[in-house]
Amino acid sequence: MKEMLLISGCLFGLNCRYKGDNKKLKQLKKLQKKYLLIPVCPEQLGGLSTPRPPSYFIEGDGKDTIAGENNLINEQGENVSKHFRKGAYEVLKVCKQLNITKALLKERSPSCGVNKIFLGEKLTAGRGVTSFLLLANGLTVLSEKQYTRMEIT
Ligand code: SF4
Repeated sequence: MKEMLLISGCLFGLNCRYKGDNKKLKQLKKLQKKYLLIPVCPEQLGGLSTPRPPSYFIEGDGKDTIAGENNLINEQGENVSKHFRKGAYEVLKVCKQLNITKALLKERSPSCGVNKIFLGEKLTAGRGVTSFLLLANGLTVLSEKQYTRMEIT
């Protein structure tokens, strides 16, 4: 049986982004030759609607959100931190129940960002909420920008 790989739903082609569209990875077919892909969208799993207003950090990053900081707001000024925390723990539940140890997540997202997130309008180094939680629980987490490190090229 192929190894399972958790993947951001929008990279898989699901229309789960805040605008209701996707960011389907062009190498998806190649990826599927090696892995059984398990698509998830932490923001939807956290109870947010699609489409939805975009969200961003007002301070810190996903590490702080998991620590209990309410540091994420959406474009309408609503604090959405609890939804991001809930979504991250739901994704972790999927990983634990299926023994998934690797994830390929969408860079720059406040949930899925692996190395970069938006602090206000500024792109900065940091982790999304789900990325942080998965890394903290021992998963290997790479972004689509690090695709070649999934040993599939
Ligand atoms: S939360 Fe992750 S999977 Fe969902 S739309 Fe944003 S980047 Fe894609």
